[in-house]
Amino acid sequence: MTRAVGIDLGTTYSVAAIIENGRARVVKNAEGENLTPSVVAVTAQGHMLVGSVAKCQSSVSPERTVMSIKRHMGTDHRVSLNGRDYSPQEISAFILRKMKRDVETYTGESMKKAVITVPAYFNDAQRQATKEAALMAGIEVVRIINEPTAASLAYGLDREHIQTILVWDLGGGTFDVSILELGDGVFHVKAVSGNTRLGGDDWDERLVEYFADTFLDKIGLDIRSDPVTLQRLREASEKAKRELSYKPGARISLPFIKTGNGMPKNLEASIDRSTFEDITSDLREKLLGPTRQAMADSKLTAEELDRVVLVGGSTRMPSVRDLVEETFHKKPFIRINPDEVVGIGAAVQAGVLMGEIDGVVLVDVTPLSLGIETEGGLFARIISRNATIPTSASQIFTNAEDDQTVMDFHILQGEREMAIDNISLGQFQLTDIPSLPRGKAHVEVMFQIDVNGIVKVSAEELYTETKTGIRIDASHLLSEEEVEQVIREAEAHAEEDRSRRGEAEINIRADSMIRAAELFLEEKEGKLSSASKHRIEQCMLDLKEALSQGESAVIEERTEALRKMLEEL
Ligand code: AMP
Repeated sequence: MTRAVGIDLGTTYSVAAIIENGRARVVKNAEGENLTPSVVAVTAQGHMLVGSVAKCQSSVSPERTVMSIKRHMGTDHRVSLNGRDYSPQEISAFILRKMKRDVETYTGESMKKAVITVPAYFNDAQRQATKEAALMAGIEVVRIINEPTAASLAYGLDREHIQTILVWDLGGGTFDVSILELGDGVFHVKAVSGNTRLGGDDWDERLVEYFADTFLDKIGLDIRSDPVTLQRLREASEKAKRELSYKPGARISLPFIKTGNGMPKNLEASIDRSTFEDITSDLREKLLGPTRQAMADSKLTAEELDRVVLVGGSTRMPSVRDLVEETFHKKPFIRINPDEVVGIGAAVQAGVLMGEIDGVVLVDVTPLSLGIETEGGLFARIISRNATIPTSASQIFTNAEDDQTVMDFHILQGEREMAIDNISLGQFQLTDIPSLPRGKAHVEVMFQIDVNGIVKVSAEELYTETKTGIRIDASHLLSEEEVEQVIREAEAHAEEDRSRRGEAEINIRADSMIRAAELFLEEKEGKLSSASKHRIEQCMLDLKEALSQGESAVIEERTEALRKMLEEL
């Protein structure tokens, strides 16, 4: 039997866990650590380094080191190492290959399959890119699950009578809030929010600035001017930050950090916790926006939350924990190491899937709505945001033109009403549609999202059963900011979007009414009195004129006038 392995492929650190004697446990890597830095580097000789060794080399040659590649998953971003370009999948594959090797060394068995976690807001292309990275590393992904779901599984919340769980995840470079609802042993994501540009690194940067300013004041030299020195200070600052989680103060000592007047200069400085909390108070403030957003989306109050689970190394900071407690009026769950809890949950899910432990069936949801562009540039939602996956849905569309034998389909993801404001995921064409008048050809557009969140879209002309489709291509992607911005932007533009949709619909109705009138005139040729014919033609002209002037109220009025006239006649 293949062993159940769970992998948390994180932005700053990755974790592998397995099931041993019915319980999930983290597998130590070759360096004897539970967390493997998600860092890849190449030496001057061209050797690839992964994990702590790569992280160490980052201070000496930052230009040959890749960090936080997860931010670019599913984009066409490329990193250049020793003159070769690598995709985010290839870089992630180096990390996964090391995780696989370390698990194999620990278990003495070959590792073939794994459950891998991704943030709940990851779109389909980002999930697909994660799967590809695993495949490149020789790992078959048995399932991709959401990180907050994994955290809840690690706590065994599926076995308690818990209904609502808020997972608050502050890692090295990202912040995610997810609200899950558990019903009949199934997890549903009720809401997700976050900030893909906020994490422990920002707290580190504040300390870097603080210490660099101290050095500038005392010695008159700026450490920030040299990347190697700056990297040394960054590492020392991160260490100081960790210390400040347990101690009231921290010291850093960096000998020979700069040379001034031919003399080596040392950086010796200290900081106490309250100063650290003061210089980072605005960062804590930034955590509140996405938290409120998720609560509002889920329509729950703090009192209605049964559990608050903390995930991510940065939730070890006491001020962050206090903030969570103040916000939700309850003690957060912190029993499991916050930086290991997702990996552990992934192993629990793998254990369930491989039959090593009994457990739940998991359900995740689509973070954004999926649909196609239709007449008038409108966005037709086919699968709504937060739909439980796997899922499929279809809608029937008709030809917009007479004798249209080819139909173009533009697949989009987003929450805006007009297609142009959403994110394009791909396009395809259905050809060989039989030649029919406008509105008479029926094409069924079907969206299918599999359990790993991969999307397939097909279009079938129902009479001839001509069918074609695409699997969403991983090169058509969202930038990271867009993922979280989409929902915010849709809300900000809701009013304006509604009126743009309204206008587009009014124009579409007017166009159809003109066509109907043309058809009517054609059919009644020679049977209508010339006065009636003239009245219709005049009405059509008035409507066309209104359309060219774009006055929605006038268009609507004249469409109605034409409709009434056709009805009367
Ligand atoms: P993760 O991405 O969840 O592994 O979290 C990594 C982040 O957690 C990094 O920014 C670490 O500096 C931070 N971190 C880890 N341990 C601590 C600690 N004791 N206090 C504050 N931050 C920590």
